[in-house]
Amino acid sequence: MTGLELSFLIYLVGAAALGACIGSFLTLVTYRLPREEPIGMTRSRCPACRATLRIRDLVPVLSWCWQRGRCGQCGVGVSMRYPLTELACAIGAALAFFYYGTSWQAVAIAGLWWSMVAIILTDLEHTIILDEVQIAVGLLGVLYGVAGGVAIEGMVRGAVAGAAIGFALKYGFLYFRNKDGLGMGDVKFLAVAGIWLADAANFVPFLFFSGVLGIASGLLWRALGHGERFPFGPSLALALLLCIVQPDVANGFWQLYGLLR
Ligand SMILES: [Zn+2]
Repeated sequence: MTGLELSFLIYLVGAAALGACIGSFLTLVTYRLPREEPIGMTRSRCPACRATLRIRDLVPVLSWCWQRGRCGQCGVGVSMRYPLTELACAIGAALAFFYYGTSWQAVAIAGLWWSMVAIILTDLEHTIILDEVQIAVGLLGVLYGVAGGVAIEGMVRGAVAGAAIGFALKYGFLYFRNKDGLGMGDVKFLAVAGIWLADAANFVPFLFFSGVLGIASGLLWRALGHGERFPFGPSLALALLLCIVQPDVANGFWQLYGLLR
């Protein structure tokens, strides 16, 4: 193994470890913020026995594995949500480094992935997207744009287009279908997604994928017996990530759809 390969491997493992720690933080944020509990500096406790978690209980993914999914002190089962969130965030960070190297784009893409994980967690459980996450997605979009040489005007145009599309969809649904199809969280997300897309034209594949994923997740949501109103945030976030990291695939699918129509 050459020195270059070794340093690449060390960076890759480092990125995954950082991602896992971010994931650990996100499980805390996505649990406490929707319940209006302070994030603060209080050490995490076991929800069952209230024992303060020790350092060896706090290693992302690994703690859960070597304690076989139980609290190290009282033995009560710990939700799969913790290791899965940490693992998902680790994978996102490793992929971002693998494809974008040590660059600001890698940081922005990893951040977008982590935001998507947070959106999935809070939208599935509480049908909300945290404003803190929206702000993070917006700032990361600016970072991504600046690193890629996108003009600020483009980002502003994208954000305005996103907000306009969001409000049009929200009130269009209300007017024509007489139901609240889109929550304010979704409208805000369309606006911050516009910063990333930076051009109204890029909304076409993004909205197409959001729609396809939305219909699929809505059907699944209903099949699972959760009712008509399904969380749209995960579809929006995944569609944005897809359009940013694979613009060619996104455009290709969109053109294929145009041909088949
Ligand atoms: Zn316990």
